[in-house]
Amino acid sequence: MAGVYISWPFCSQKCTYCNFASGVFPRAAEAQYLERLLAEIRRQRWAWAPETVYLGGGTPGSMPAETLAAILAPVPGRPWREATLEAAPGAIQSEQVRAWREAGVNRVSLGVQSFEEAELRRTGRRHTAESVQSDVAVLRGEGIAEINIDLIAGLPGQTRESWRRSLDWIARLAPPHVSVYMLEIDEDSRLGSEILQSGLRFGAPDVPAEELIVDLYEEAVERLAALGLARYEISNFARPGSESAHNLKYWRLEPYAGFGADAHGFDGQTRYQNVESMAAYLAAEDPRLEATPARLDEERFFVGLRLMAGLELTAEDEARHAAAIAKFVKEGLLEREGGRVRLTSRGVLLSNDVFEAFLHD
Ligand code: SF4
Repeated sequence: MAGVYISWPFCSQKCTYCNFASGVFPRAAEAQYLERLLAEIRRQRWAWAPETVYLGGGTPGSMPAETLAAILAPVPGRPWREATLEAAPGAIQSEQVRAWREAGVNRVSLGVQSFEEAELRRTGRRHTAESVQSDVAVLRGEGIAEINIDLIAGLPGQTRESWRRSLDWIARLAPPHVSVYMLEIDEDSRLGSEILQSGLRFGAPDVPAEELIVDLYEEAVERLAALGLARYEISNFARPGSESAHNLKYWRLEPYAGFGADAHGFDGQTRYQNVESMAAYLAAEDPRLEATPARLDEERFFVGLRLMAGLELTAEDEARHAAAIAKFVKEGLLEREGGRVRLTSRGVLLSNDVFEAFLHD
C-alpha cells in the first residue's frame, strides 16, 4: 500500500537550525501555491488508493481550515489508516483540531524540539513547556491520541541537565511517539553555516560538543525505553502500535507520491523530485524534475538498516556484501540473527560509516 506526502512550506518564522526548503513568504504566495498544489494533485493518475497521508513542510498546521480541506479533498483512500499533520506548538485551539479531524487528519506531529525556554528563544521558537502541555490536552480532548513530539539534541546552550528536564516533560506528557534528531550542521541552515564559519551568531559557540550530543541521544534512548517508547528507527521511538505507518514506507521502500515544493516520490522503481524553491515551484508548468531509476539493491541496505529490526538478507546480498557484513559484525557495529542483519547500539552511532561502506561495496 502506498502513501502520499504533501508539502506546505510556509512558516511564521525561520528557525535557526532548520535546513528544509521552508520559509516566511509573502501572504500572496499562499494563494498561488495552493492553486499550483491543487493542480499538481489533480493531475495525479491514481493507480492505487493511499493508506497514509503526511502533511509536512513547513507548518501545515497553520493553514486555514478550508485550505486543508481543499488539499485533502482530491486525495483518494479516506478514511486513511494514518493522516499526519505537522504543527507548530504553542497555541493549538479546539476548533482548529476539529477542522483537522473533519479533513481526515488522525495524527499530529509537534515540532517541540526542546521544553527549555532559553533554548527555544535562541532558535526563534515561541512556545513554552506549558503551552505544549495545553496543546497536547487540546489534541487529546478532540480525539487525537496519536501525537508525535520532535526533540533536537545539540541546540545551543543545551546541557545534560536541560536535556533531562526536556525528557522529564516527555514523561509527563506521555506521547505515544517521539522523534529525536541530532543537530545537523550544514550550509542549509543559518545556525549550521554559522558554526561552519566559526561565527558567533545564533548561539553557534554554545552548540554542545559532538561527544555530548551523542551522550544526550543515548540518554534519550534509555529514558524513552523506560517510558515504553522503543526505538524502532535511528531517530524514532514509539509505543507498540504507534510507529509512523507513513514514515515506515520510506524505510521499507514502499511507494509514495509527493506533491508540493521539494517533495519527493517513489513508484517502486523510479524516484522523482519536485523543484525545491517556492519561486521555482510557482513558476514551473510541471514541477517534477526528471525521474531517476532507484538503485534498489543499494537502497535496501541504506534505508533498511535504519530500522532496528534490520533487514532480511537475500542470497545476492550475502554474496555481494559478505566481506563488509563480516567486518562490521567483528567490529560490533552489526549483529546477525539467522538471515537478518541489524545495527547494534554502537553501530547506530556510527551508522553513516556503515551505510557508506554498503553504498560503495
Ligand atoms: S523547523 Fe519547522 S517551523 Fe521552523 S522553519 Fe523549519 S519547517 Fe518552519
